[in-house]
Amino acid sequence: MRIRKAVQPVFTWERTDKAAILRKECGKKQGERMKGKICQSCAMPLRKQEDYGTSVGGSKSRDYCFHCFQGGKFLDEGITLQGKIDKNVQFAKMMGMSEEQARNMASTILPKLKRWKK
Ligand SMILES: [Zn+2]
Repeated sequence: MRIRKAVQPVFTWERTDKAAILRKECGKKQGERMKGKICQSCAMPLRKQEDYGTSVGGSKSRDYCFHCFQGGKFLDEGITLQGKIDKNVQFAKMMGMSEEQARNMASTILPKLKRWKK
């Protein structure tokens, strides 16, 4: 059974809406878009306001996505970097990526993120 693309994209986002975003943002905020802000916990791109998590009091978090961070807390508080990598790999596999590819990607990107840097 194939899982539809609409299910929470983790590593498939690069392709999602890319053309539409390019068309929309062409010419403005070029530098900002090129930087590609990502969640500092799971590496999901933060593009729209809705992608961002929330801090205490409900204001938007600047660093984390809503899958990871809500109301000022990590939804998976206590998880280890390795645990988070495994979780991302599971997601990516559901999206049709091979385990090896997904693991390479997650173990390259995640340790560089703010949440995991020590
Ligand atoms: Zn995240």
